[in-house]
Amino acid sequence: MKNIIIVGAGFFGAVIAERIANDLNLPVTIIDKRKHIGGNSWSETDSETGIEIHKYGSHIFHTSNEDVWKYICRFAAWNEYRHKVLTTCNGEVYTMPVNLGTINQYYHRAMAPETAKNFILAEIRKENITDPQNLEEKAVSMLGRPLYQAFFHGYTKKQWEKDPKELSPEIITRLPVRFNYNYRYFSDKYEGIPLNGYETVFRKMLCHKNIDLKLNTDFKEYKKCLESESLIIYTGAIDEYFNYRLGRLEWRTLDFKLEKHPYHDIQGTAVMNYADEEIPFTRIHEFKHYHPERKDKLKETIIFKEYSRFASIGDDPYYPVLTLNNVLLLKAYQQLASGKKNIIFGGRLGSYKYLDMDDTIAEALSCYKKRICPLVNP
Ligand code: UDP
Repeated sequence: MKNIIIVGAGFFGAVIAERIANDLNLPVTIIDKRKHIGGNSWSETDSETGIEIHKYGSHIFHTSNEDVWKYICRFAAWNEYRHKVLTTCNGEVYTMPVNLGTINQYYHRAMAPETAKNFILAEIRKENITDPQNLEEKAVSMLGRPLYQAFFHGYTKKQWEKDPKELSPEIITRLPVRFNYNYRYFSDKYEGIPLNGYETVFRKMLCHKNIDLKLNTDFKEYKKCLESESLIIYTGAIDEYFNYRLGRLEWRTLDFKLEKHPYHDIQGTAVMNYADEEIPFTRIHEFKHYHPERKDKLKETIIFKEYSRFASIGDDPYYPVLTLNNVLLLKAYQQLASGKKNIIFGGRLGSYKYLDMDDTIAEALSCYKKRICPLVNP
């Protein structure tokens, strides 16, 4: 039987470790170079204020996948939080994603759903885009040029530092356009924030006698003492694993500027986006709003201003940059990876995919069933 090593204790690694430990009743080692589990989904409580902070930016769990929901509910109870996002654009505050309220406010109209739909259709037709090839064309073909220009062009340039014409259209299809006043950010069946924080979720997943958890452990060092037959599940960046031998995949990283304020509530909502290109940050997170069941007890507030930039070696990668060049380079790395029988790449970083938490769990459950079980228990 092979020694099993999981590199990275985010959702992908934690799900696989939990399955191997519980379902196969086999020992597994999971290492992480950070001092905490949970990857970028980690949250922790600020000891001064008692406010739970999502250390790597807002993480709202949402899914319509019944299997994923059933699975994750074994480790967490959820609150009733429903995500709503506002965006400040040219001195006014609008609701996001674009809905009837956004449209009417932007055009100073009071259109009913059908009228608005026809109005936006007329805007879309002006551009005559039949087969959108990039983010800009896709967005314009969904809502017309003026709304794209106001809410997406500047934000996207700040977020990705690329011309939106270079980016994949699928980035923008994450957001719906609605001709009603539903301005919930997500359209999924299940949504919420863990009542006791993400910290508790990961602890429950990884607290098992079969799981040997090693924090502050870098794979580069750790691999020196690995047996050659070990099975490795690697959830770090795939280009880093291969020492950037074919070139570097582009990643976006985020910097967060933390501010504590002696007010009960500073922005009135969990996330305010800033659409204007001149404002250097993309959004502000005010974490206490994620726990409406807790917030009245807290007198202060904490916000994170989010700044996006290209990741250099040593920075935490957050977002794969979905341009043609990066996708081609990824294919070349995947080709290299396919020659390695004892290593499986997964998670947002290992697969260079823009996965949400639920997608990551779904991919991990499927990888466990289809790839790991047959290898470990043939
Ligand atoms: N986006 C935008 N304006 C907004 C919100 C999103 O232009 O107010 C675009 C931007 O390109 C972003 C993409 O839509 O990268 C996906 O947004 P989402 O909120 O899903 O991004 P995430 O929360 O994963 O950073």
